[in-house]
Amino acid sequence: MAKVESFQLDHTKVKAPYVRIAGTERDGKGSTIQKYDLRLLQPNQDALPTAAVHTLEHLLATYLRDELPGVIDVSPMGCRTGFYLILWDEHRPADVATAFTRVLQQVLETEEVPAVSALECGNYRDHSLFSAKEYARQALAAGISDDPFRR
Ligand code: ZN
Repeated sequence: MAKVESFQLDHTKVKAPYVRIAGTERDGKGSTIQKYDLRLLQPNQDALPTAAVHTLEHLLATYLRDELPGVIDVSPMGCRTGFYLILWDEHRPADVATAFTRVLQQVLETEEVPAVSALECGNYRDHSLFSAKEYARQALAAGISDDPFRR
């Protein structure tokens, strides 16, 4: 069976909110892709409601591309405690933590969610900007760490 990096992580030891490198892939020809774990909530203690995770997905997709070069994808985790960020090249956790913090601050100032029509979204009825802001506020109050174990 293939080994999945995030299945090896001890989810009882991490302290959310944090950013963490979940993988660095090199193709041997000079291209590098990184996967980041952007964790908003403490695993197995809380989970984002689907409307919040969905709205945050739309906002992060836009704002993270403005903050960081080389963003390929931002996707919600199935456990609804955070997001995965995939990007070209290597980025320092401190820079990703700063970008994530700035993006969450932008969430607080958002007045309209992008792409919330049946044309642009697969479930446009399931959004909550109010809820997205509440979870962003909570994470900002705790502070986004670049060390998941807060050593
Ligand atoms: Zn959508």
